[in-house]
Amino acid sequence: MAFLSMPCPYCEQSQTQVIEALWDDHYKTVRRYRVCPKCNYKWSTVEIDHDQARNLERQSLPSWREEKT
Ligand SMILES: [Zn+2]
Repeated sequence: MAFLSMPCPYCEQSQTQVIEALWDDHYKTVRRYRVCPKCNYKWSTVEIDHDQARNLERQSLPSWREEKT
């Protein structure tokens, strides 16, 4: 499977793998479970649409916003 890979948040290895992608019917999002082949760190990412992202920003996630700048 070809996914745009996301760097490992732990060791910053650039090639990571998606082991599972699940559609969440309640939140209308795609959740991807990822693993880093280098350090074996596991985490998941969630895709949300633009409006949901703006709502989240309004509900204040200050650390998340700071990390993106
Ligand atoms: Zn890693």
